Amino acid sequence: MEESFIIKQKQRLQEEKKLLEKGLETFAKRDPEIKGNWNSMFPEFGASETGGSRMEVAQDEVEEYLKRLPLEQAMEIKLQNIEKAIKKISQKKYGKCEKCNKNIARERLEVHPSAKFCTKCQHAIL
Ligand SMILES: [Zn+2]
Repeated sequence: MEESFIIKQKQRLQEEKKLLEKGLETFAKRDPEIKGNWNSMFPEFGASETGGSRMEVAQDEVEEYLKRLPLEQAMEIKLQNIEKAIKKISQKKYGKCEKCNKNIARERLEVHPSAKFCTKCQHAIL
């Protein structure tokens, strides 16, 4: 794989990483104990404009919190995959399938810069 392509992919991965971290920061905090782990923050809506009771506001907060959890998890996994791909670039292993060790098709990497597997292995997993 040529160097210029890898440099381009690295830029894309770093941009995606920044966006994900920015998104996560709006509703989650980095776990100081576990690297790469984020914790959803419990929302505090305060008194609602419609004059809802304290109980109703609390229910809305719980609802929002439960919505955040799966989103946070999905973003966290995506972020970890991106970090892994960036690491693979520095180890000169970028673009190799983690299962069969063959090169991942360039077209696939262009769509998914953080792809871990080649199309064949990915289909075998799913
Ligand atoms: Zn493979």
